[in-house]
Amino acid sequence: MISGKPVDTQGVLPYPKNIPCKDLMDYVSVFRDEYLTPEDLVDFANALNTFQELVGRDQCWCVKEANHPLLKSFTATHPYRPQFKGRDARVLSLALVDQFHSEEKPVIVRSHACRSFHCIHPGHMFYGTKADVQLEIQRRRGLKVSLKIINEIRLKREADPESWTYSSLSAYYKLPLQTIGRICRREIYDF
Ligand SMILES: [Zn+2]
Repeated sequence: MISGKPVDTQGVLPYPKNIPCKDLMDYVSVFRDEYLTPEDLVDFANALNTFQELVGRDQCWCVKEANHPLLKSFTATHPYRPQFKGRDARVLSLALVDQFHSEEKPVIVRSHACRSFHCIHPGHMFYGTKADVQLEIQRRRGLKVSLKIINEIRLKREADPESWTYSSLSAYYKLPLQTIGRICRREIYDF
């Protein structure tokens, strides 16, 4: 079992450099709370290193496509969650870059740049809100409208639907009619 002493992972972890002592304890406690051993932590960090070396920093680190002895503890059987020894690998990966679950940011958001549900690249995800999830989905689809504009469109439409028809909003904001419709009907960013 795990002792109270932090694991010496120096020279193993790819991220982050120069971790303050407090944060080192934090990610250690995430692994400990998942009933993973210090050896598991080192294996996990080694796996991230392996991905970085083999696949590169700019690509997805997809455990489904990976085929390396160091990655044998990862599975991709869950439809949208990479797993490490049955645990959510995203939680572990984020802990290693000093990101943790909080009440304000309770969900793991996959960045629009990420191409795989089974990616464990810590740079491809972050803790956020359901609104962030929707935003990243829309960004992935190529929609580049800020939340501020979306709220503005809805407020105009709700305050004066006769003046602010879909076509007048479309002309004003230079957005496709279809997009305006989806924003007003709350098919985009439903929060
Ligand atoms: Zn990715």
